[in-house]
Amino acid sequence: MIVDAHTHIFPPEVVADRARFLEGEPFFRAIYADPKARMVTAEGLVAAMDQDGVDISWAMGFPWVREENSRRHNDYLARAVADHSARLRGLACVHPPAAWALAEAARALELGLHGLGELAFYDSDLDLASLAPLAALCAERNRPLLLHTNEPVGHQYPGKAPMTLKALYHLLAAHPRTRFVLAHMGAGLFFFNLLKKEVAGVLANTWLDTAAAPFLYRPRAYALALELLGPDRLLYGSDYPLLGLARYRQELDQAGLSPQELAGIMGGSALALIP
Ligand SMILES: [Zn+2]
Repeated sequence: MIVDAHTHIFPPEVVADRARFLEGEPFFRAIYADPKARMVTAEGLVAAMDQDGVDISWAMGFPWVREENSRRHNDYLARAVADHSARLRGLACVHPPAAWALAEAARALELGLHGLGELAFYDSDLDLASLAPLAALCAERNRPLLLHTNEPVGHQYPGKAPMTLKALYHLLAAHPRTRFVLAHMGAGLFFFNLLKKEVAGVLANTWLDTAAAPFLYRPRAYALALELLGPDRLLYGSDYPLLGLARYRQELDQAGLSPQELAGIMGGSALALIP
């Protein structure tokens, strides 16, 4: 069983004419104004899953600034999940600082979506005040919250936010009942699980995904994440259509993982979060 816990799909009208959706959307513009930044619909994703042998994908939207765009996308995700109920799980997305964010997130979960994600702050540090009610909602409904995180050091690339480990750590500490999935290997925070005090408790409800890791980390990082955070704490996520399965297979084959560890990464651990 292969589960891809990090993919993005867009409504067909956005894929067909992205320029129409750039106005008032600085983050969408920054990442998707470039026509080389690929976007796919649910059907495009399912076709790629068929080709790669992926059984289930977590499909996510985008943190639109404008409410109408967010609603459109969450409605589309709910329809896609209903149309492909054996293949897709959907995470609703909102722009956390928006006044409507909590109501829209709750509405989208009522539509049948399975959690929230990929929540992101692309131009600032994590805003803990606006994330708090969303994290509380996920805890109350027992749904995962998948959060964009990136390394606080290293080379710069599009979509790399000026986030800090301190803010991330405080977020996790403030919401011990929320199951967080930290995208892109969780900013490297898992290293600090080696500390003797406090951190292991704070990270007890935290998972990581591998999205974009072939661009970022040497393969040894996967084995270290399992060793330091726990054998069930790393989820295969492709960030499709950014990358497909083949590239991850290449890297994971060099990571020195046991068949059991690999099976957990490729699906078993994600199924425990969203059956
Ligand atoms: Zn991301």
